[in-house]
Amino acid sequence: MNFKELNLNEQILNSLHVLGYENPSPIQQKAIPHLLEGKDLFGCAQTGTGKTAAFALPILQLLYNAPRNRRGIKALILAPTRELAIQIGESFTDYGKGLNIKHTVIFGGVSQLNQTNALNRGIDILIATPGRLLDLMNQGFIKLDTIEFFVLDEADRMLDMGFIHDIRKIIPKLPKKRQTIFFSATVPDEIKSLSANLLNNPVKVEVTPVSSPVEIIHQRVLYVEKPEKRDALYDLIINESIEHALVFTRTKHGADKVAKDLSKKGIKAEAIHGNKSQNARQKALNGFKDRTVKILVATDIAARGIDVDKLSHVINFELPDVPETYIHRIGRTGRAGETGDAISFCSYEELSNLKDIRKLVKKGIEEMNQPPAFSSAPPAQPRTENGRSSHKPSNNRPQRRFARR
Ligand code: AMP
Repeated sequence: MNFKELNLNEQILNSLHVLGYENPSPIQQKAIPHLLEGKDLFGCAQTGTGKTAAFALPILQLLYNAPRNRRGIKALILAPTRELAIQIGESFTDYGKGLNIKHTVIFGGVSQLNQTNALNRGIDILIATPGRLLDLMNQGFIKLDTIEFFVLDEADRMLDMGFIHDIRKIIPKLPKKRQTIFFSATVPDEIKSLSANLLNNPVKVEVTPVSSPVEIIHQRVLYVEKPEKRDALYDLIINESIEHALVFTRTKHGADKVAKDLSKKGIKAEAIHGNKSQNARQKALNGFKDRTVKILVATDIAARGIDVDKLSHVINFELPDVPETYIHRIGRTGRAGETGDAISFCSYEELSNLKDIRKLVKKGIEEMNQPPAFSSAPPAQPRTENGRSSHKPSNNRPQRRFARR
């Protein structure tokens, strides 16, 4: 299937061509026809599947086709993080070239002046994080009574981040008659009931459910004790000639320490997390995107929604407690059909986390060194190879081992 068969207009087709998109991704193929018909949609899809274009393209086309004399904001897109909101805004800019449909992005942590100026000039599409949206609504800068399209993106993450109260305050301000699009990577009970309240007879589409991570990602684990992790990271980057990697740490402090340590050793690295100002975060992210920064060290919340073209490596400096988080993390690589490498450091304390992750991902996680021979250790899995030619021989890999206790 190609984009033309989805009945998208010439301007949009042209923008997609300029961006180098050849064919619609599965979520786009499944969602766009229903959305163009005005239906509500429940999309079960994670970042990296092309879900932004799946909702942005039909919204742009429907707004383009509608009479232009209507006033007020017509589409509201809610996103859990500033980074994701900014990225969605960039996507609307890319996809909406030549359509003369105005959008703006609002989020907290920065002065509201530029945002209120843009709102006062008049916009068609508003992309917002919930806190700043409510704040500007309360100050009278935003009214939602003209909304025709409402998108709740990464709804599961919104709930994880405690935005449910904000969302409950926002929803009653929306007109009852509207088209609602709901995206979530996972579907716990809370998400089911929230979506049931919001959606009217929705079409359900699902791609790459969270329990089956993108098959093309080459997953490996390196057993390494906690105090050795920073050296192991440096060795790994050097030995595998890693040019661009997103490294996940458990804490903000940990992210800072890892980034500082790499910088000291001569590798350009930056940390990104919630304690940094929005400007510092955006600067680090831009540096990473234009590759002046080689390694971006992030906590889970800060990394949510980061979309970097052709990110080759994700490194878990620490394993997450929640196995689904592992899937979200490694999903930063292997995007839009590209291959990717995910390497996880696992210390003695993290063996049980690894065991849970293995249960969820099903696909084998290749071991880069011997697993520790403790009685509590998970059974060693057979080594898997995926035949990738870029794969370095094992004698090039760091050979750090667990210290025997
Ligand atoms: P998303 O899941 O919306 O965050 O998109 C993930 C990445 O895939 C982004 O970099 C998009 O620009 C890219 N993308 C989305 N749709 C397509 C497509 N049909 N062909 C190629 N790349 C795409």
